[in-house]
Amino acid sequence: MRILIVEDEPKTAAYLKKGLTENGFSVDIAISGDEGIHAALAFAYDLIILDVMLPGRDGWSVLSSLRNQGNQTPVLFLTARDRVQDRVRGLELGADDYLVKPFAFSELLARVRVLLRRGPGKQTDTLTVSDLELDLRGHKVFRSGRQIDLTHKEFMLLSLLVQRAGQVLSRTLIAEQVWDINFDSDTNVVDVAIRRLRAKVDDPFEKKLIHTVRGVGYVLEER
Ligand code: CA
Repeated sequence: MRILIVEDEPKTAAYLKKGLTENGFSVDIAISGDEGIHAALAFAYDLIILDVMLPGRDGWSVLSSLRNQGNQTPVLFLTARDRVQDRVRGLELGADDYLVKPFAFSELLARVRVLLRRGPGKQTDTLTVSDLELDLRGHKVFRSGRQIDLTHKEFMLLSLLVQRAGQVLSRTLIAEQVWDINFDSDTNVVDVAIRRLRAKVDDPFEKKLIHTVRGVGYVLEER
């Protein structure tokens, strides 16, 4: 299995290359976006590990250029910005997965193996939990095949809950990720938003997917 790492920070690139090589992968490094595109189009890689923050052409631009040229190699994004906007943007462009820096190598390796198992051209445009379907590219939401209209923030909130389905998310984390604010314990912005989201996504349906975990936060899952 051959992996291309596009990363301008020599230490990170060397660390990744060493770890992946030790695990039996054959690894090339590109230190700029242009070099990454050139290599990705010139060789048949099984996976590209793509840093978002690159000098000149950034990771997003690299990814959209590759996809526009018909390259469907799975891409794992490395990002320092753990924000839903960025994740949604990357997924819209056709990224297959994300890892937020700093990360443990064991986590990277686990994600790499999942992506390699999945193979090319099967990136997730659609996330599904029970009869709830999120179209990340089209920003559309369906339940039981019926389209649900959401505001931009509601879509962000729902996509956070769906991407982390089964995990309890604290109000603090939700506030930081969706509103990019430091949570003020006096505000109930998250609770209000969840109530509005439930009115659209859960209330008209018998099966409830968004659950309150008392004293902690919220989780979206099929129960
Ligand atoms: Ca970088």
